[in-house]
Amino acid sequence: VDEFEVIRRYFSAGFPARDDVVLGVGDDGALTRLRDGEELVTVSDALVAGTHFPLELAAEAVAHRALAANLSDLAAMGAVPRWFTLALALPSAEPAWLESFAAGLQRLAGRFDLALVGGDTVRGPLAVTITALGAVPAGTALCRSGATSGDSIFVTGTPGDAGWAWQALAEGQQLSGDDPLYQRFAFPEPRVAEGAALRSLATAAIDLSDGLHVDLERLLAASGVGGEADIERLPLSAALRTRAGESRARELALTGGDDYELCFTVPVGRESALVAQAAAWPCEVTQIGRVVAEPGLRWREGGSVLPAPDAAFRHF
Ligand SMILES: [Mg+2]
Repeated sequence: VDEFEVIRRYFSAGFPARDDVVLGVGDDGALTRLRDGEELVTVSDALVAGTHFPLELAAEAVAHRALAANLSDLAAMGAVPRWFTLALALPSAEPAWLESFAAGLQRLAGRFDLALVGGDTVRGPLAVTITALGAVPAGTALCRSGATSGDSIFVTGTPGDAGWAWQALAEGQQLSGDDPLYQRFAFPEPRVAEGAALRSLATAAIDLSDGLHVDLERLLAASGVGGEADIERLPLSAALRTRAGESRARELALTGGDDYELCFTVPVGRESALVAQAAAWPCEVTQIGRVVAEPGLRWREGGSVLPAPDAAFRHF
């Protein structure tokens, strides 16, 4: 199966058709249209087999994770996703693998009305690079830099679950397909609608890809502030607590990575508006701490400050 045939057979149909795509797959470039008063938000994320996921991970999950990671970045900007491109490096063009990969991509793209507008396939070690494009009303995008002293720090979902599963898989453990922790690793749910809702509530946001501690530190540093968070408020899932134990669960929640949850700050007086809005969300939303003037992120347990966690997930 040559390159042209791969694109024609697996990636030319089955994705949402959008009327703001003037010219999609098939020319040298895609033409897409923004509406008046919008800004384009562009994100890109590469997933490499062996570095970001085990070589034998199901093709459908590889596709889902690659697109979900990009949608999560758009969500952290408060953007609504519209289009994406795919660059796929494959050791060989196996029809069964490609079919399952395309199905995983089509399922998630379909849910978010996302058109595939371009791509490339090459021979090489398995790697998936996606560029996703979305839009926000001009001037409303969420950035990492807007937090100020006094803001509350919130996180969605239950960080640590995906990190546990990745580590178990890396150690050669077999996890069943319906294991909730495997599901959180293989099929993370990007918080797209939640990110868009946060445009009018949050002062700053980031998505969790490398671990809550380092990602929250990045947000605080970009805002020129610091933070104090309460380790006992970490929203740990019951499944993670059971499998890892309380202490390891906390460590994974802070350093595990691959959560694709949102961490964001809400100004004083807006917390109840956030909580009211979030009551309709399909994920938990938990206040874990507060922004302070002094730089750095400190985790507290009771009255004492804990040593800074290390061993955050590294992409290299
Ligand atoms: Mg990100």
